[in-house]
Amino acid sequence: MKTFFNLVQEVQKPGLCHRCGGCVTFCTAVNYGALELDADGKPRYGDAEKCIECGLCYLICPEIHELDEEQKRMTAWSEPMGRVLGTSVARARDPRVLELATDGGVVTALLLRLFDMGFIHGAIVARQVGIFRREPWLATSRESILEAAGFHFDASHGMKLYSDQYSTYAASIHELGPMARRGLQRIAFVGTPCQIKTLRRMEALGVVPADAITHHFGLFCTGNFVFGEEQRQRLEEIGGFNWGEVDRINIKEELMIHLNDGSRRLIPLDKLDFMKRYACRYCDDYSAEYADISFGGLGAPDGWTTVITRTPLGRAVLADARGEVIEAYRDRDNPAFASDVLHKVREWSDRKKAAAKENHARLESRPVTVLG
Ligand SMILES: Cc1cc2nc3c(=O)[nH]c(=O)nc-3n(C[C@H](O)[C@H](O)[C@H](O)COP(=O)(O)OP(=O)(O)OC[C@H]3O[C@@H](n4cnc5c(N)ncnc54)[C@H](O)[C@@H]3O)c2cc1C
Ligand code: SF4
Ligand code: SF4
Ligand code: SF4
Repeated sequence: MKTFFNLVQEVQKPGLCHRCGGCVTFCTAVNYGALELDADGKPRYGDAEKCIECGLCYLICPEIHELDEEQKRMTAWSEPMGRVLGTSVARARDPRVLELATDGGVVTALLLRLFDMGFIHGAIVARQVGIFRREPWLATSRESILEAAGFHFDASHGMKLYSDQYSTYAASIHELGPMARRGLQRIAFVGTPCQIKTLRRMEALGVVPADAITHHFGLFCTGNFVFGEEQRQRLEEIGGFNWGEVDRINIKEELMIHLNDGSRRLIPLDKLDFMKRYACRYCDDYSAEYADISFGGLGAPDGWTTVITRTPLGRAVLADARGEVIEAYRDRDNPAFASDVLHKVREWSDRKKAAAKENHARLESRPVTVLG
């Protein structure tokens, strides 16, 4: 039976661990202290003697491929980028949601709708804590779901609060622990494609409390970007701006930096490799292929969200919300708008898969050990 020891050898040492936290959160012996996270959020043995060698951490890790086929079967995955039942571009109807949102606020509008209708007891989201840093959060009220919307850059606390740990990633899988302790059922989860994959692994294995996650909302993802001091300085130089002027950021085809004076700076994503987390170079899922619904800004006009439904549940959630809490974008001059958007997502997905394949091949021909 392969255990956490093998995860260290096969995933951590080559630098493939993207710190989703799944292994620690679901370790059978975590209450005995077998696994823990270090200060940087990296899993490690707390006490290796307490490991009962059940092999669960190994199987659920998204970088281990033993459950790939089972997971694909469960979600009716198909080439080239997972199941697609429908593609649309939409935005929230509530001006307050729109004002707070990253793009069109569809994620928040759907969460609120599900909550108001009593379909969910809460949602695992990521809220802003300080400047440009998010932490996972189990939101169990309307206000807390709203509070977690958007991607704002609040410099009012002063730049000194920055530190190297600031990044666009939030280790949301950890919130399943508090959720289980509170006995909550029917929870929606919002996360990156790698996190959705971890959840589907748990589902395939029937691991409690993954069964309490009823709705899987995935966000498109080019990578997780780290904003250490060095990276911030370089970004200022590339974009010709000052962090003190930044109002909010979002990621579509470029990194979009919106400044307080209403202007914005666009930085091509291929110029951001220096701040991309190492493990993300090996990730081949751009569009959250295992989600019920995937969301991104790519392809949508400013202030709107691209929405891909992937499961019958996702389709039903969107259909229920349409006209009630969200409105669809219509391009009267281009009836093929939705398929053009899907085509664009496909291009970005293909590009990410090709890069991951190339990087994996390079890794296999020249194995490296990543420290830290
Ligand atoms: C790390 C990251 C990378 C992304 N990369 C791309 C990209 O390359 N191209 C693209 O088109 N779109 C990307 N997105 C998605 C995009 O930024 C928007 O989240 C998406 O378009 C939904 O917009 P919205 O206005 O409908 O969401 P909102 O209504 O604003 O809701 C966003 C929801 O996402 C949650 N959230 C925010 N950050 C995180 C996080 N780090 N982890 C988990 N949940 C979080 C919030 O709590 C909120 O519930 C990325 C998102 C993230 C978090
Ligand atoms: S007890 Fe099981 S899940 Fe925990 S570290 Fe050991 S093998 Fe992994
Ligand atoms: S990718 Fe996730 S499950 Fe795999 S070793 Fe890293 S934290 Fe653990
Ligand atoms: S690129 Fe995005 S989905 Fe892939 S490992 Fe990095 S954060 Fe996760």
